[in-house]
Amino acid sequence: MMRILILGGIGEAVKLARRLAPFHAVTYSLAGKGRAPDLPCAVRVGGFGGGDGLAAFLRDNRIELLIDATHPYAAQISRNAAQAAQAASVPLWAYRRPPWRPQPGDDWRSVADWTEMMAALREFKRPFFTIGLEPLRQAAMISPEQYWLVRCLAVEPPVSPRLTVLSATGPFSLEQESALLQDYQIDVLVAKNSGGAAVEAKLAAARQQGIPVVLLERPALPAADREFAEIERLAVELTDFLSV
Ligand code: NAP
Repeated sequence: MMRILILGGIGEAVKLARRLAPFHAVTYSLAGKGRAPDLPCAVRVGGFGGGDGLAAFLRDNRIELLIDATHPYAAQISRNAAQAAQAASVPLWAYRRPPWRPQPGDDWRSVADWTEMMAALREFKRPFFTIGLEPLRQAAMISPEQYWLVRCLAVEPPVSPRLTVLSATGPFSLEQESALLQDYQIDVLVAKNSGGAAVEAKLAAARQQGIPVVLLERPALPAADREFAEIERLAVELTDFLSV
């Protein structure tokens, strides 16, 4: 039995915690933005106080393996994990979810940041944002010709008469996404390249309707001792690692 800390916040991390909990002393950690999952292991909610705080947690709880299974755009916690693992001399394994790849018929435009995104959106009138809360903070940038649709997890008050907020949590079906694009007369989809299946249907709906997609590039993440593109592979390798 090993003392393992899983930094989670996505479906695959919950799956991994369920898989490992019967055999190990697992603590599942989440930032606290979403609902805490029901898990057969310790669940910890809230930040650690940066890399130093996480290193102290690793030492105080005599953690033997740190697993970074956070969202690919949650770059700060991944940086903290790398720093803390090194400071506390704890091995770091990471699940790095593969990005989506364009398919025939896709019109994907990659942007590095908010400035590039605004430039890419200039030619469109009805963008649909699926990148979290940032568009609500940037509502002053809505041009007089544009009307924004923003889908996010949190229930947010209206910030502009030229913007609609949809508070919703995936997964979403292809039928739902197709209807939404039509109902709001969307002419461009704005997304993170999150990868995974839960929110992928919007890309298929955009493809079917010939709608371009503006994709925010992934942040650079630090190296881990071992990196996995599949969560099941990580679980299997851990079993092999312990039986050696
Ligand atoms: P972030 O910018 O990398 O992290 C901000 C701060 O939140 C971290 O410095 C840390 O606070 C705390 N934190 C983040 N993940 C944590 C975890 N698993 N356990 C404990 N503390 C955590 O992350 P974010 O983009 O705000 O995302 C927060 C969480 O939501 C992540 O767990 C991520 O997997 C999940 N998520 C993110 C996205 C996204 O698009 N960013 C999408 C879906 C799910 P301290 O420095 O105080 O320790």
